[in-house]
Amino acid sequence: MIKVENAQNIILENIETLEAEKVDLLKALSKVLAEDIHSDINIPPFDNSAMDGFALKSSDTKGASQQNPIILKIIENLPAGKTPKNTIHKGEATRIMTGAPMPLGGDGVIMVEYTESTNNEVKIYKAVSSGKNIRLAGEDVKKKELVLKKGSLITPAKIGMLASVGKEMVKVIRTPKIAILTTGDELVELGEKVTPGKIRNSNTYTLISQITKLGAIPVNIGIACDNIEEIRNKIRSGIQYDMLITSGGISVGDYDLIQDILKEAGLNLKFWKVRVKPGKPILFGLLNNKPVFSLPGYPVSSMIAFELFVRPAILKMLGRKDIFRKTILATLTNSIDKKTDRRQCLMGILKEVKGGYEVSSTLPQEAGMLKSMTLANCLILAPQECAHIHHGTLVKVILLNDKE
Ligand code: AMP
Ligand code: MG
Repeated sequence: MIKVENAQNIILENIETLEAEKVDLLKALSKVLAEDIHSDINIPPFDNSAMDGFALKSSDTKGASQQNPIILKIIENLPAGKTPKNTIHKGEATRIMTGAPMPLGGDGVIMVEYTESTNNEVKIYKAVSSGKNIRLAGEDVKKKELVLKKGSLITPAKIGMLASVGKEMVKVIRTPKIAILTTGDELVELGEKVTPGKIRNSNTYTLISQITKLGAIPVNIGIACDNIEEIRNKIRSGIQYDMLITSGGISVGDYDLIQDILKEAGLNLKFWKVRVKPGKPILFGLLNNKPVFSLPGYPVSSMIAFELFVRPAILKMLGRKDIFRKTILATLTNSIDKKTDRRQCLMGILKEVKGGYEVSSTLPQEAGMLKSMTLANCLILAPQECAHIHHGTLVKVILLNDKE
C-alpha cells in the first residue's frame, strides 16, 4: 500500500495536459488559455472624453467660479460614436458625451454638473486644468502589448479583454470527456422500483456533479452488473474517452471483477490500494494510454477518493495550475478516535471564529453514510501516526467549497 502523497505524485506523473483547440470566445470561459494574447490596437483607440460635459481650452476657464462664470460659444454637439468636425478655438466649446473623441484644439473637459447651457452658449462655473477628464489613446493597453498570458485561467474580465482585442476565436486547452461506469448487481436506476436486496445508484450522479464542477465533461456509460462480459463491453466503450472512472467492484470480494477485467484488457497498473481511510481500494493505471481510476462503491469513499486522486488528475488535463485545494489549519473542537493506521480523511464542518478556524468531524463517519457528506464543508486530514486526536489540536483541513 502506498501513501496518499506518493499516489498523487504517481497520478500527476502519468497525466498529460490535453492539446489546445480553437473555440468561440464565449466558449472559452473557465478554460485555460493556450496562447499569448497581444493587442491589435491601442485601448482606448483615440483620446476621448471621460465625462458628459464640454470640451474646451483649459486656458479659457482660468478664474472661473460660481460667482464669476465664464461664457463660451458652443460650436458642435458630439455624441459617442461620432467624429468631431470643428476645431475648438479660443472662447469656444464643444458639447461632448462620455466616450466621444476629443476635438482638435480642446485640452480639457468640464463636467456638465459645473455648467449651465443654452443651445448656443455655456456658462462655466469652475476652472479646468489641461488634460482634465480626457482618457488618452492607449492609456489602458498599448498596441502590440501582451495582455493575457498562455496558461492563465479565463475569467469574465479576460473574456472582456479578449473581446477588446478582437479575438472571436481563442486557443484554449481542450476539455476532457470523462467516462463513468458504475458496477453492481444491487443497483437500480432512478425511476426503477427498489426491490428487496437492491439500492439506488447514487455514485453516478455524485461523480457527474464532481466532474461538471471542475469544468470537464462527464459521459455516463451506465450501470454494469457484476458480470464479466457486461463490464468488459462497457469498459471498451468507456476507454474511448479521455479518462475512465469505474465505481464499485474494486475490493477483494468474490464479485469484485474490475481489476481482472482491466488487466485482461491490457491495463498498465500504476497502483492499487492507498494508505487512506476511506478510499483504500482505489486503483489507478493506464489503458490504451488513457488514465483509468477505479473507485470503491461506498458513496463517501467514492467522493473522497475522487477529491484526493481524480480531481488533481482532471485539473492537470485541463491545464490548470491550481491543482490542489486550499488547506488551512483549524482547531479541532471534538476528539477523534482513529480506527486505522491509515491516513484518515474525515468529513468536517469548518467555521471561521475570532482569530482563526474551528473544525469538528461530522458524526457518523461511515463510508456509506452520504448524509454526513451533505453536511461537510471540509475534509480533516488526520496524521497517519497517531491513534487519538484530542480536541484543541490544530489539524490540517482541505476546504471543499473553495472556488473551483
Ligand atoms: P463495492 O465497492 O462494489 O463493494 O460496494 C461497496 C458498497 O457501496 C456496497 O454496499 C454497495 O451497495 C455500495 N454501492 C456501490 N455502488 C454504488 C452506487 N453506484 N451508488 C450507491 N451505492 C453504491
Ligand atoms: Mg459491488
